[in-house]
Amino acid sequence: MTPTGDVTNGADAGPGTRPTVLILGGTAEARTLAAALEATGVAVLSSLAGRVARPRLPVGAVRIGGFGGPDALAQWLTEHGIERVVDATHPFAERISASAAQACGAAEVPLLRLERPGWTAGPEDRWHWVDDLPQADTALRELGARRVLLTSGRQGLAAFAGNAGAFFLIRCVDPPAPGDLPARHEVLLGRGPYTLDGELGLIDAHGIDTVVTKDSGGPLTEAKLHAARTRGLPVVIVRRPPRGDVLTVATVEEAAAWALSLR
Ligand code: NAP
Repeated sequence: MTPTGDVTNGADAGPGTRPTVLILGGTAEARTLAAALEATGVAVLSSLAGRVARPRLPVGAVRIGGFGGPDALAQWLTEHGIERVVDATHPFAERISASAAQACGAAEVPLLRLERPGWTAGPEDRWHWVDDLPQADTALRELGARRVLLTSGRQGLAAFAGNAGAFFLIRCVDPPAPGDLPARHEVLLGRGPYTLDGELGLIDAHGIDTVVTKDSGGPLTEAKLHAARTRGLPVVIVRRPPRGDVLTVATVEEAAAWALSLR
């Protein structure tokens, strides 16, 4: 794994090349934004949490690891001469977004939130919206789910640990921590993009009758929704958590324009 906190590739953070735009990343949009800004000559520094063993790295300078909370992040922004922050973290990464809002307020650094739109059900979809993973487990029991494709990530799986009525095919990027997993499960390591044919094959091979997902949005992982529609399967989908009042855009183009307009 890449050393925590180090600038690991691209331009270093020395005088004259000091990054001015910090991108809080971990998403495809963050990587695309880093490339777009680099191409215009803006110095960017991308930050990753360090949760994934082999992260997809953006172009340009990268640092990895938590900052130590909002106060430490505010200090870090000042020390590193950061002039703009784009919070392009995942729609379900709540803590870092709250931390960024607080830190940018304290350090008086402009903050933009880049968040891809959520998914929208079509008329033939059988989606069941829930607020969190414990509610997702309740929905599975109510639906009588027996064989579940669980794609909500490796965190929070304890919510399903008491569900003895179903087998769970748990798909995630890195293995979940042992313990607090459903009694009957199989872990399938994988990372998008996924295809409709691939998802149909997975559903058929494992006899899946229900899909669980977060409303992550975006094209890289949405094939499971098309596959569920094709097979007429219910989808239990977790709503995004509420967000604070931060200037927000939905596209990389808008975020790049914001960063460039402030040069
Ligand atoms: P989280 O709960 O919001 O953040 C937990 C802590 O991790 C934060 O308080 C922060 O530590 C650190 N952190 C998170 N993102 C960071 C970043 N980009 N750079 C530096 N530190 C970061 O986040 P999470 O849900 O665990 O997600 C972690 C990362 O994975 C995020 O970058 C997110 O974009 C990505 N991701 C998350 C999901 C998901 O479903 N949650 C899915 C795909 C990708 P300090 O308080 O010490 O600063």
